Amino acid sequence: MTKNKFFVIATVMTILVLVIGVNFANAASLASKLKGRILLQVESKGEAWYIYPGNFKKYYLGKPADALDVMKKLGLGAKHETIIKYTVFPKGLWGKILLDVDDMGKAYYIYPVNGKGYYLGKPADALEVMRTLGLGITNANLATITSSDAAAPEVSVAPADSSTDTVELIKSKYSCAVCKSNEKCVAGKCTAIALEHKNVCGNFVCEEGESYDGKVAKSVGGTQCALDCSAPCTGEYCNSYAQIECACDEYDALAERHGCIASAKKCGNCGAMEKLFDSVLTIQTDVIKCLSDYFQYKPARVLYKVFYNPGEPCQSKSGCKGNEGGAAGPDYIMFPTINGFHQYGQILPIKASEVTADVHETTHYFLYQMLHGIPSWFHEAIAIQTNERLNCVSSQQSWGDYYLYEKEKGIGGINMADGNYLTYDYYRKLKKGQVSLSSKEKEDHYLTGTIFVMGLKDDYKCGFNCVKDIVIKLREKEQTNCMFGIGENCSVVNYGTTWGMFWLGNGDKEGGELAANKLIKATVEEVVGKSVEPLFDLLNIKY
Ligand SMILES: [Zn+2]
Repeated sequence: MTKNKFFVIATVMTILVLVIGVNFANAASLASKLKGRILLQVESKGEAWYIYPGNFKKYYLGKPADALDVMKKLGLGAKHETIIKYTVFPKGLWGKILLDVDDMGKAYYIYPVNGKGYYLGKPADALEVMRTLGLGITNANLATITSSDAAAPEVSVAPADSSTDTVELIKSKYSCAVCKSNEKCVAGKCTAIALEHKNVCGNFVCEEGESYDGKVAKSVGGTQCALDCSAPCTGEYCNSYAQIECACDEYDALAERHGCIASAKKCGNCGAMEKLFDSVLTIQTDVIKCLSDYFQYKPARVLYKVFYNPGEPCQSKSGCKGNEGGAAGPDYIMFPTINGFHQYGQILPIKASEVTADVHETTHYFLYQMLHGIPSWFHEAIAIQTNERLNCVSSQQSWGDYYLYEKEKGIGGINMADGNYLTYDYYRKLKKGQVSLSSKEKEDHYLTGTIFVMGLKDDYKCGFNCVKDIVIKLREKEQTNCMFGIGENCSVVNYGTTWGMFWLGNGDKEGGELAANKLIKATVEEVVGKSVEPLFDLLNIKY
């Protein structure tokens, strides 16, 4: 049996390239702009509405007492120390309601304009916050935002789904914020861990003799350590989080690694597209900060290599959604072309406001850096759930991820071979044997990952916070395995002249993917507190 190795240098890349040209919904964009805001109907009696950032729908707040109830229902549990820690909260929490789980569920509204928290206290306090921080809106504009009321008409191509919003979810145990690379979060505190073997690529610390120059390697070879070390800034679109660079001069090396480039024309330069690199840098920097807050991990500088590979001009008068996705590895993220909205007749975004954020591929990069070699289905599970559930910046696609159907009706929940949409109802039918996956669907990492995430939420109360805990726990294990160097269980391997990655928790041994699945299963069970065998078996994930 051939060993499965995915090299740092010539790695198996996770690829998601979707080019979709459909009409852009203005209503969705207004709702996404106003997410987390409290709106006051100025042309009526000043009725208050709240745009819930989780689904971009409006919730009627009614009387002050009702308002507090509604807001609490939509709140997220948070530890007291988290609530008192911030003056300005992390971007991912802007517009949300936090409930202090250690103090009788006291509610705080994180005002999305300045990121500060406002105590909602008694109904009268809630009223005061609504009046002070609320934003006036016309009836016409308000009408374009979908209502949370089930009776309200909804634009929907997918069947109505039984909501999982009411599932009470497991609260996160982690509250360390970002620790240094040679520390781990122990009981809420960043605690130094002793590195038994220094100068090892993959022990999470960039040490003497390790470096990474940021260039795409043509093939396996070289001794660079992209796992621990940041590449230096080589261009003007660079900061301590990210660099955006035109990758035309690396065409040959890129084409060797990515099929989607190999079929494209060679480019000499990025032309007019380069004018937008500044906004790409701003957006992706915010995404990286937001992902760092979520995963409590700051990776080496993320290199975004943008290639010039535009598709057909947009044929729709109201514009096209354009691209989403690219490819990610442990050393860089590649976009075939800049991601964003295209105006009629345009092949690319032309204005800064049209550029859209990437969360999916950037999550893959985080996972490579945090966990080294994890199976593709798990890679996609985490990238898809993060893209769907983590609201980092307003320039994110409002519908979240195409696969997971939670955020917005209309888009999300893909069409299955049997004509059904992938919804929570579909998942429940799958469990009962009322529907089944085709053989092709069974092999699809995106589907396996998505259904895994749905199953965790529906049957194990394991949502956004719990998924994060699974990743953080896995990282702790990998960190422990690798602090002793590249011994038995660290999934980094030195192939003589090349640093590569091996399956998580397995070292350079046979049966790597099964062992990685087994470790993931055990970790999920630690977090959710019961066996997840039925879910693994349903999805045919071997362990
Ligand atoms: Zn992916």
